[in-house]
Amino acid sequence: MKKIGNFFRNFMQGRNGTDDLAKVVLWIAIACYLLSLLTKQPGLYMLGIAGIAYALYRCMSKDIMNRSAENRRFQKFLSLQKLKWEQRKDYKIFACKRCGRTIRVPKKKGKIEVTCPTCGHKSIHRT
Ligand SMILES: [Zn+2]
Repeated sequence: MKKIGNFFRNFMQGRNGTDDLAKVVLWIAIACYLLSLLTKQPGLYMLGIAGIAYALYRCMSKDIMNRSAENRRFQKFLSLQKLKWEQRKDYKIFACKRCGRTIRVPKKKGKIEVTCPTCGHKSIHRT
């Protein structure tokens, strides 16, 4: 049993391993696969298999720099969605199209021009 553990440890050395993005992709893929068994939809089956393959590819990848960058972008996206959901009644939250900074404006102010405090990019938003 110890030998198998050592083999696995050596095999995973220098590889990305599981991260948040791989876990979410894997769960969605498993859900698609199970749904395909119930609905007999070949598209869902293919999506499930492709998702599982992508999650495995992420775990086994040796290009840790790029996988980490993708995972960070995914985590940033998730936290922005969470913030939008939590403050959906009072604020409209969006990312600056030029620099990506998160901008929050009060709701129900009509059409307003918003200037990004970081890069100065101006954009029109309906609130
Ligand atoms: Zn900006």
